[in-house]
Formats: sequence, structure tokens, C-alpha cells
Amino acid sequence: MEAAKTHHAHYSFFHGVERNFDKAAKYTRFESGILEQIKACNSVYRMKYPVRIGDNIEVIEAYRVQHSHHKLPCKGGIRYSMDVNQDEVMALASLMTYKCAIVNVPFGGAKGGIKIDPKKYTPFELEKITRRYASELVKKNFIGPGIDVPAPDYGTGAREMSWIVDTYASLKPGEVDALACVTGKPVTQGGVRGRTEATGLGVYYGIRELCHIAEDMKKIGLTTGIEGKKVIIQGLGNVGYHAAKYFFDNGAIVVGLSEYEGGIYNEKGLDIYKVVEFRKATGSILNYEGATNFKNGADILEQECDILIPAALENVINGSNAIRIKAKIIGEAANGPLTPEADEILDRKGVIVVPDMYLNAGGVTVSYFEWLKNLSHVRFGRMDKRFSENQNTFLLKSVEDLTGKRVTDIEREQLLHGPDEVDLVYSGLEDTMISSYHEIRDAWMSHKGTVDMRTAAFTVAINKVGVSYEELGIFP
Ligand code: NAD
Repeated sequence: MEAAKTHHAHYSFFHGVERNFDKAAKYTRFESGILEQIKACNSVYRMKYPVRIGDNIEVIEAYRVQHSHHKLPCKGGIRYSMDVNQDEVMALASLMTYKCAIVNVPFGGAKGGIKIDPKKYTPFELEKITRRYASELVKKNFIGPGIDVPAPDYGTGAREMSWIVDTYASLKPGEVDALACVTGKPVTQGGVRGRTEATGLGVYYGIRELCHIAEDMKKIGLTTGIEGKKVIIQGLGNVGYHAAKYFFDNGAIVVGLSEYEGGIYNEKGLDIYKVVEFRKATGSILNYEGATNFKNGADILEQECDILIPAALENVINGSNAIRIKAKIIGEAANGPLTPEADEILDRKGVIVVPDMYLNAGGVTVSYFEWLKNLSHVRFGRMDKRFSENQNTFLLKSVEDLTGKRVTDIEREQLLHGPDEVDLVYSGLEDTMISSYHEIRDAWMSHKGTVDMRTAAFTVAINKVGVSYEELGIFP
């Protein structure tokens, strides 16, 4: 990937998103002013602040971009990586606007980034960097339950989110909704069950829905269903690991995996749980039993498979390697893994590319549920779980009395069970991923194969955001 990045040093991710937007905008009815407003990043905040690391003062470069205020709060993750720059954060913030529109989450798009390599710092140092970032956001009114609500992204997780909520709450004493200032928190700090795995699970639900439709599978020479499909996944972080786990658990054959140290491939399949254990023990996925090693992890993308899931960073499939991709389906779990050049090449090859702004929207969907939970100050299921169980018990007893038959103990358990928080979160996520898929597919089909799925998804998003701007009214 490093090689790919250097090779495309002048590639602007934000211009890539704008190019894709323009391609789709042609198919919408909005005047150019509205389209221009939708595309623009409303606020860009670049900060530099000092943090003492050991004996030195380090000047930290960080960003928060609010792409759209057509709905509030704004929403989007925070990334820790040495590749963070203004162009990248702007691109990721704009993707968030379209993503929220596609899955009907009533937020505007935003994104944050800190230009650090988190591996180089101790947890104590990371805490100082994160808390100072959070207080910079508070100072400028760039964070808050009704303003802008960050979440985890590449290089961050629940730990960072708990530092942020704690910093926010101590600077805003008495704010009753303070917990809703950030999502992806640990469950003990106001998080919601199911958020950690949400993006990966959403990726699985989305690809499963695509693979359900016989007509679409026939076009690319595949049978329906996930079972037996050969899958390659790049990146075993939060998104990649969970996606790999759900594909594996549901009968797909995970033939290839890669991390920054390299890739492994075995056409008979890899046991994702064992690979992760092996990596924990040895510090690398390389030399895993029975698998072929790829020293350059990016080579894994070009191996034989049905479904390819890039789940690390952007720009990994581009004008120089797209031609060698063998997958029939590419599921964009990462944001922006394909450049517009790659899109064109893959479209000509007949590959179905399921776009990031839909496929990885499971994270923001469940973040929305977490925000709702924080604002309502009650766990999902707390009010109605017992009520449902009592109703189910009564119903089942009536049926058994009337028929004189009894269900098995396993069936009884399933029938009586009232929903826990995680059941509700999963069902809300599953429903969202399925219904949004069909909205996009309808748009895709309406163009009878003349546009790719990304363009179709963009038209769905532009239509929703455009209407929202029109209804807001443009002030004189
Ligand atoms: P993460 O930090 O948890 O995981 C990323 C993983 O990729 C790490 O394990 C890292 O070592 C690995 N990696 C780095 N370079 C690599 C390379 N060259 N080849 C293979 N692997 C490499 O981050 P994440 O949260 O899983 O995010 C991954 C992608 O998914 C990003 O594009 C992010 O924007 C997107 N995304 C994340 C979420 C979320 O909820 N976390 C939601 C939507 C989209």
C-alpha cells in the first residue's frame, strides 16, 4: 500500500469524490447552485497544539471538517494516521454526508483526523493528545450532542471515545446530554451494545443482500448466497476483522487476508479465529500454516476470489492495479479504496463495486442508535422486554392449549425471548442495510446498466440532500 500511495502522490481524494459526485449529478434535477452547495465543505478547522512527550514538546497537527449542516448534528469518525491531511479529511467528511442520507440517518457529514502514528505513543501520551484535541473542539464549538458528534475510525476505538466524552463532560458541567457528544463509547460509558462490530456486520448484510438476487448474480456468473463464496479481506482492524468473522461464520471461504506486514492466501480457506490467534502469538500473519505468503500485502488484492473486501485505507485499487483484479464483486468496507480510474477499468471488466457510502454505513447507523439511547437516557429494551416475554408466554400457552401439542424446549426459548438491546440494534442495522440496498438497486436498475452502483448510490444521496436544502430555503 505504501507503494501505491507514493505512486499516486498527487492524487486528491477530495477531487475523486467530487468527480464521482459530478458523474451522478447529471441524473438529478437540481440547479447548479444547489449542487455546488451540496458538494462544498461548510467548515474546515485545522489546529496545531503542543503536547509534552517525554522531554520534548511536540506540535500536533489535527483537523475537524464539517461538510454539511443541512441536518444537525454533524457526524463522522476521527482518524489517527500519518497520512492525515486536509484533503483526506474533507473527502471523508463529504462521504459522511452522502452516507447518512443513504441510510436515512438525520445527520450532516463530518470527519476528524490527527496526524500521528498511534503505534509510536504510549497510552498515557495518546490520552494527552486525545484530551487536548477534544478541548480544542470544545473551545471552537466543534463538538456537542446537537453540533457535531465524532466516532471511531482508522486508528481509534472505544478507548479514545471515552477520553473524549470525559473531557467534554468536565468542560460542560451539568450538561445532561453530555454522553451524546461522541459515539462508539464503551458500553459502561454510555455506549450501545453492537456498535463495535456494526460496520463489519453491515458490510456482511450488504453483500449478502446483493448475493441474494439471482438476476444480478447470473450477470457475473455466480450462484446466489454467501455460502461457498471465496472472499479476500485487506485489513484486520475493527471493520475488516468483523466482516471476515461474519463471512466465515456464515459459510464463505476466506481465502486471503492481509495486514500491513503482508498477506496470506490459501484456496482451501483460512480460519479467521486461528489466524488472529496466530498473529497475536507471533506478531504477524505471515507464515500461517498451509498458506502462501505475500511480502507485499497489496498483492493479495490481485489473487483469485469471488468477493474482495478492502477494509484498510483509501486509494489501494487504482489505475495501476485495477486491471489485474480477479474478483467479481468488490465491497468497499474502507472509505475510498478505489480511485475513479479504477472504477472505470473495473466497470469495463463487469465487476460489481458496492460503494463505501452504502456498504460501510452500518457504523454510523448504530452510532445513531447510540446517540438516541444517550438522549433518551434509557437502554433499548428496558421498557418492553418483559412485556414482550409475558405476551409471548400467553400466546404460546393459548396455542398449545388449543392444539393440544407442545413445542420443543429450544423452540420455546426462541419464541418467548423478549428483545435485549443487542437484538434491537442488530435488527435495526439489518433492516437499514437491506432497505437502503434496494433503494440503490432500484436507482441502478432504472438506468438499465448504463451507470455503476456508485453513481446510483450518489443519485440517491444527492436527491435526499438536495431536497433538504430546497426545503431549508436559501436565505437572501
Ligand atoms: P482500524 O484502525 O481498526 O483497522 C485498520 C487495519 O488496517 C489495521 O489493523 C491496520 O494495521 C491495517 N492496515 C494498515 N495498512 C494496511 C495495509 N497496507 N494492508 C493491509 N492492512 C493494513 O480501522 P477501521 O476502523 O477498521 O477502519 C478501516 C477503514 O474502514 C477506514 O477506511 C475507515 O474509514 C473505514 N470505516 C470505519 C468505520 C468504523 O466504524 N470504524 C466505519 C465506516 C468506515
